[in-house]
Amino acid sequence: MSSSMKQVLEAELQKRREQHLYRQRRVLQSPQGSEVRVDGQHCINFSSNDYLGLANHPRLAEAVEQSLATFGWGSGASHLINGHSELHHQLELVLARFTGRDRALLFSTGYMANLGAIAALVGKGDAVFEDRLNHASLLDGGLISGARFQRFQHNDLDDLARRLQKTDARRKLVVVDGVFSMDGDLAPLPELADLARTHDAWLMVDDAHGFGCLGANGAGTIEHFGLSQTDVPVMMGTLGKAMGCFGAFVAGSEALIETLIQRARPYIYTTAMPAAVAASTLASLQLLTEESWRREHLVSLVERFRRGAEDAGLPLMDSSTAIQPVVIGDSQVTLQVAAALESKGFLVGAIRPPTVPQGSARLRITLSAAHSEQQVDDLLLALTEACRPYREVSA
Ligand code: PMP
Repeated sequence: MSSSMKQVLEAELQKRREQHLYRQRRVLQSPQGSEVRVDGQHCINFSSNDYLGLANHPRLAEAVEQSLATFGWGSGASHLINGHSELHHQLELVLARFTGRDRALLFSTGYMANLGAIAALVGKGDAVFEDRLNHASLLDGGLISGARFQRFQHNDLDDLARRLQKTDARRKLVVVDGVFSMDGDLAPLPELADLARTHDAWLMVDDAHGFGCLGANGAGTIEHFGLSQTDVPVMMGTLGKAMGCFGAFVAGSEALIETLIQRARPYIYTTAMPAAVAASTLASLQLLTEESWRREHLVSLVERFRRGAEDAGLPLMDSSTAIQPVVIGDSQVTLQVAAALESKGFLVGAIRPPTVPQGSARLRITLSAAHSEQQVDDLLLALTEACRPYREVSA
């Protein structure tokens, strides 16, 4: 029995290898930052989601240390039993104020927040409409909710309108990424909010990649567009990316948050994150408020990268965010370009299907406020060099 399982799994794994879709973990041997040590090699890092360079900030570490003295390390229980500490509670209040919403609720991860929120809001007899390029956790949330699940063309308002018109579902939930994680472009939130209102649907935005970076105060894509809690009733944000910490939250009305506390299974049936993690997020939010230079520097690096890439004739996507993908197409070639960059000391993500659609494998280059202008210029040179052999072949 077990040998047949071994054979089946090995054959499947071998097929993945042959298709250049096999995924391998790298071992990080340093803190996250613009320069890291990975598998024994020193690299300039253009692959993390540490967009503001806060993951290794000493103020976060200090906050953790201080909270350990009061709360210890493990939370010991779920939020609804007795794991909900004063620090979790305080962070929820601060997040609600920061996002301009009535309340916020902490989740242990963004993946769980998405599963929990969608399945708590819709079920059998309802309908959920998701952008084709939504993050896997949103798609999984839609699928497990039991609601009728539809995907509309990426950022295509007409396609979504047609689908909303046709449905006779009881509740309708429209779900999008604020910033699309593999493309870096924004969802047209003002138009989506109008459309949702017209069709009596609810709008949920996953702002994993906008929160901390976009908007006048860093409150994300919804702030960037000047929208309110009425326009976007369900906001989800993660704390493991620009905030440099871990975990996630959902923010919205009192009724929304109370519903999630009662019904969101990934909230109810899991251990609360350590209070020290909440303490570090409080420190990170304070830095975000006190030091806007990180967001400003990031914006100027994005502009610098795009200007340089355009001058070098590199294919860019329509992204004004820290996510600057270079689509190569073929998975094997993408791996080869990423390996060539790594041999020059630059770490970039090689993203392949099924994370991105077939034929659109890409380098996912992410910029951070921790980068210097020189590092961005050096990357551009190395990138132009690494892409050259393949561009000449395809020209
Ligand atoms: N949503 C999006 C758009 C993401 O990119 C991610 C993480 N890659 C998540 C949700 C999940 O967040 P977490 O890592 O906190 O589980």
